[in-house]
Amino acid sequence: MTEQGKSSLFPTYARYPITLVKGEGSRLWDDTGKEYIDMMSGIAVAALGHAPQVVKEKLIEQLDQLWHVGNLFHIPNQEKLAGLLTDNSCADAVFFCSTGAEANEAAIKIARRYSQKVLNNGRYEIITFNMSFHGRTIATLTATGQDKVKEGFLPLPEGFVYADYNDIESVRNLVNDRTCAVMLEFVQGEGGVLPADPTFVKQLAELCKEHNLLLIADEIQTGVGRTGKLFAYEHYGVEPDIFTLAKGLGGGFPIGAMLSKGYLAEAFSAGSHGSTFGGTPIATAAAHATLSTIIDNQLPERAAQLGEYTVKKLESKLAGNPLVKSIRGIGLLIGIECAQPSAEIISEIHKQGVLVIPAGPNVIRLVPALTIPQEDLDQALEVVCGVLSQKASTISGV
Ligand SMILES: *Cc1c(COP(=O)(O)O)cnc(C)c1O
Repeated sequence: MTEQGKSSLFPTYARYPITLVKGEGSRLWDDTGKEYIDMMSGIAVAALGHAPQVVKEKLIEQLDQLWHVGNLFHIPNQEKLAGLLTDNSCADAVFFCSTGAEANEAAIKIARRYSQKVLNNGRYEIITFNMSFHGRTIATLTATGQDKVKEGFLPLPEGFVYADYNDIESVRNLVNDRTCAVMLEFVQGEGGVLPADPTFVKQLAELCKEHNLLLIADEIQTGVGRTGKLFAYEHYGVEPDIFTLAKGLGGGFPIGAMLSKGYLAEAFSAGSHGSTFGGTPIATAAAHATLSTIIDNQLPERAAQLGEYTVKKLESKLAGNPLVKSIRGIGLLIGIECAQPSAEIISEIHKQGVLVIPAGPNVIRLVPALTIPQEDLDQALEVVCGVLSQKASTISGV
């Protein structure tokens, strides 16, 4: 039942008082006609901006042909997209699903099944990290190293233990004869835009080799060009055994993927895993158009350049600002760590026509489209820095 003006939705999300109704490139408009520069891309999803022509064309073409048949039949668009992914990554096999959490579920399941059905060592435990984020399903919220996502959802499944990020000894201390894998984000996105330390990643990869553990990379936020490489593992000179994608992969159309090295493929034999909506003709058409555009236009390189430019600009404009503790990130996944909760600052930035989002309580996260025009980026950075200066002057009474 609905009363006039009362939402029938679960109150799951604390929403900003903004209703966006139209998007084009890096611009968004609300229901009052106010225009915004988009520095959040629907949380790193609209990688090519809003309504990109290349994706729209392929989607419309596919909408005219066929929407859904299910995975009991061959789907050429899946083969095409999987080929593009394996040709451009260290992976040899791809499983398609619809969301990030579902991709991580597949990663958790294949790691366990490989241990239990291929290696026959009965292992099941996965080491993840404090402050990580891996999703909202029961298994992926258990994998997540943040208590707030777990409250009220007990009992949680067994088999997850938590190490400290960037601390190799804390990982080493958790390895035992039940451990089958280590799962990490190369940049903890939701946890506050924290990049992994290169030495730590190298030591972690060695530790995995030494103990025969699978290295699982959650690239749901860092993948498809976001960090300045097509996949974030390329920054670190390591190759994960398994990695997961979602967010930017479909350019705004829902799709997730779990990718692995070829030796894991036999663990997912016929009937072992599945998803009704995994890799529909439409979703894979959107993702193929998105990914090929990212690759063909060297958008990872563009993200690297614009990211470096952005960090430099923020560093110079915010130097000495008492509200700013640090500026960090890689490519176009950038965080401004504030000395206080960032919510009020973010609301003011929204009022001034720029859409940014938080990452944890104190961080302002900047995740624009990989295609954001230079002028839009400059204008957005002016606003962000302007608000931070203004807020700093009110607290210091200047
Ligand atoms: C967003 C995100 C997820 C969850 O993806 P959903 O599509 O919301 O299920 C998992 N891991 C990371 C690193 C993410 O950023």
